[in-house]
Amino acid sequence: MTEQGKIRWGLIGASNIAKQWLAASINKHPACEVVSVYSRDETRASDYARELKLQSFHTSLDSLLADPAVDAVYISTTNEKHREEAIAAAKAGKHILCEKPLTLAVADAEAMVEAARKAGVVLATNHHLRNMATHRAIKGIIKSGELGDITSARVGFTVDLPGDLARWRLNDPSMGAGVVLDLTVHDVDLLRYYFDADPIAVTAMGLTSGQAPHGIKDNVMSIWEFPGRLLVVCQDTFLVPFGGTAVEIHGTKGSVHGVDVLWQKPQGRIAVRTRAGTRDVPVDHVVPYDKTIDDFVDAVRGRGKPSADGVDGLKSLRFALAATQAMDTGSTVRF
Ligand code: NDP
Repeated sequence: MTEQGKIRWGLIGASNIAKQWLAASINKHPACEVVSVYSRDETRASDYARELKLQSFHTSLDSLLADPAVDAVYISTTNEKHREEAIAAAKAGKHILCEKPLTLAVADAEAMVEAARKAGVVLATNHHLRNMATHRAIKGIIKSGELGDITSARVGFTVDLPGDLARWRLNDPSMGAGVVLDLTVHDVDLLRYYFDADPIAVTAMGLTSGQAPHGIKDNVMSIWEFPGRLLVVCQDTFLVPFGGTAVEIHGTKGSVHGVDVLWQKPQGRIAVRTRAGTRDVPVDHVVPYDKTIDDFVDAVRGRGKPSADGVDGLKSLRFALAATQAMDTGSTVRF
């Protein structure tokens, strides 16, 4: 950290998400600055550093992690690399914000959590939906009791995967391709956040469209059970350009409907329906990643927890893998 206590960040991965969102959110925070990037490809690293006006770039992970001008790292490489990079970062004493899915196997996620604990560094997972103003409002409505006892929920993460995102998401099983590790993992984190509980069972069916090779599932529906007799039906697909995304929470006294609420942009509308009628809920939208960084800084300073920590990332991964198992075996997985 600088003498002024500023947290200097290194980007692990010259990715889209870092360029589109996270670098800006980090630099917007008065106590943070992105100073460096690591990419395997020298041209990509140097172009990226120039475009983002970074002080340096690295073409080896070891060299980024040995850089004393880096205090924290943001890992946004493809999913199969997260484990090795996070464990190396923890051993180098760097705080870590890691993309979802945390990794591709539960034991690997556990190893990441343990490495961070042992090194005494913060490990956060970038589950941004919890930080959206819409979802914070929905959680407040659930907790207020206005909806009565919650009996069911519907989640529709129905999107059309843009071409630049499709590269490995649709093609490479070794990188965790497919809709479950990309979207279901976010959905379950969001519902864990709403209900302050972990799901206890999941079953699922999935299909492969014409555009995804290797049997990679890009159209998946799953049914989950939470404690307290609460069922969730969830649709995750890369094949729906005009469906819009949605979350609905239904209780014995009312329902809350969130429309266009599952994406990265600060957007979406919420309405509550009860016997009294329909009420639109005003929302002051914020960039969710800004709050991810705010909470991360507080955690580094010992003043709080990350909005989603390593254990949250481990739990969402465990659920996504269970949904995959249920889908592949035609069974219900109980936790
Ligand atoms: P990208 O495909 O943009 O980047 C991933 C890696 O691919 C980079 O680290 C880079 O490797 C390499 N790469 C980048 N561009 C190219 C290229 N043109 N040709 C070849 N290789 C390239 O990934 P995303 O930004 O879409 O996703 C990264 C991670 O972030 C994933 O874990 C994903 O799940 C997560 N994510 C999370 C979101 C959220 O809201 N929480 C949203 C989007 C993604 P190198 O660095 O070695 O050059």
